[in-house]
Amino acid sequence: MNVTVEDSCIACGACESICEAVFTVSDKAEVNAANVEANADGVKEAAEACPVGAIVVE
Ligand code: SF4
Repeated sequence: MNVTVEDSCIACGACESICEAVFTVSDKAEVNAANVEANADGVKEAAEACPVGAIVVE
């Protein structure tokens, strides 16, 4: 599973609130790839919750 954040991210912080093991938000959400597999459900939930659809899960 590969997770990326597109430049459309508005740094709202929702993904970090949902899954802080994977997402860290400063001026844009960043992905801690090492934690993705262990937090797959949280990643999917964050991707669905992102208001601008910036989280891409492949
Ligand atoms: S939820 Fe979406 S817009 Fe908000 S910080 Fe995360 S990636 Fe960016």
